[in-house]
Amino acid sequence: MSEKHFPLTRNDLEGLAARYPTPFYLYDERGMREHARRFLKAFSAFEGFREFYAVKACPNPYILKILASEGLGADCSSLPELILCQKAGITGDSVMFTSNETPESEYVYANMMGAIINLDDITHIDFLNSAVGGIPEPICFRYNPGPLKEGNAIIGKPEEAKYGLTRPQIIEAYRRVKELGATRFGLHTMVASNELNPEYFVETAVMLFELAGEIHDETGITFEFINMGGGIGIPYRPEQIAVDYDRVAHGMKAAYDRLITARGLGPVKIFFECGRPFTGPYGWLVTRAIHEKHIYRDYIGVDASMADLMRPGMYGAYHHVSVPGKDSEKHDHVYDVVGSLCENCDKFAVQRQLPVIERGDFVVIHDTGAHGRAMGFNYNAKLRAGELLLREDGTITEIRRKESIDDYFATIDFKGLSSFKV
Ligand SMILES: *Cc1c(COP(=O)(O)O)cnc(C)c1O
Repeated sequence: MSEKHFPLTRNDLEGLAARYPTPFYLYDERGMREHARRFLKAFSAFEGFREFYAVKACPNPYILKILASEGLGADCSSLPELILCQKAGITGDSVMFTSNETPESEYVYANMMGAIINLDDITHIDFLNSAVGGIPEPICFRYNPGPLKEGNAIIGKPEEAKYGLTRPQIIEAYRRVKELGATRFGLHTMVASNELNPEYFVETAVMLFELAGEIHDETGITFEFINMGGGIGIPYRPEQIAVDYDRVAHGMKAAYDRLITARGLGPVKIFFECGRPFTGPYGWLVTRAIHEKHIYRDYIGVDASMADLMRPGMYGAYHHVSVPGKDSEKHDHVYDVVGSLCENCDKFAVQRQLPVIERGDFVVIHDTGAHGRAMGFNYNAKLRAGELLLREDGTITEIRRKESIDDYFATIDFKGLSSFKV
């Protein structure tokens, strides 16, 4: 079981909403810090262990700064993500650049920052070589195990995924960069998303450690680091159980001792690049019920939409919903909690057992601190919610304002068009 909590009372929310009208995202700094410490402690048996927070999960420099102050690096896959890191003071080998279908200019920028470059394909060796005039070090490749490894619902089956190099390719790739003069190497994979089974990560480690041995045998290289990727899930549903990091670390350590140390391949640093578990459970989308309607089903219409939080509409993902002030009331009503988009998949909860909801009630959508605001969009010309940060001292800071009409028009020079003369 995972307890679902929300750090503010209904009264707190009334006060907050008077200043920052709903909808808004709220993040809990203490929760994020405590989790980061717990995670790093669990893996502390690995010398040089690092976590590179996947920036895409919550691309706000205030959040990145908090995580960096706990010792985390950052994982990026685009130029703006690299710049976000720079602004948050994260540069050099604290940045992992795990991108795909990457333009030349982004490799150039990543290289300038001293980021660790992780290539997604064998043909990108020459592409990178000509883009930056050499092979930056350390150089890393992303492995796609294909049918050797089972994927899951969000990321799909590895053999159907566009990412990474095949087994024969990856051996050839290290041989090739070695010929080009590379001496420092990393190995990476990312085969799951939102996975809750701790054994899955141990198996992934075994797969990578065995592969490192095979690559060593074939090419003579040893690895400086092995990056396990992201994919650690969070218990979105109250009946689910969070991944036991100690158990994963123990399993991985045993595999490391057997497959790396005992074979004389060590020391190899172990990295992760998770996003979801670091911010997901410590973020909430706070909305207000503005309508209720009763047709074939009972609907609660809130003032946010799928443009603020795409996961339920996109993946049919479950997000826990609570109504502050009504936690102890009987959950004897069944609602679809919906947003205002002209799309019927714009539903935050479907046929959900909840307390009676009245217009004006706050409706809180849980576990939205990762892949929440970040996946927002502007369809139906919806303006996305802002972001508030609950500090450790209990104060609240606005770390991104709500979008405005002017933001929507920022990319359209309408006046310019109408005054154009031939
Ligand atoms: C999305 C992604 C991550 C982070 O995934 P989470 O599920 O948020 O942990 C890490 N690495 C890569 C390459 C990704 O695409």
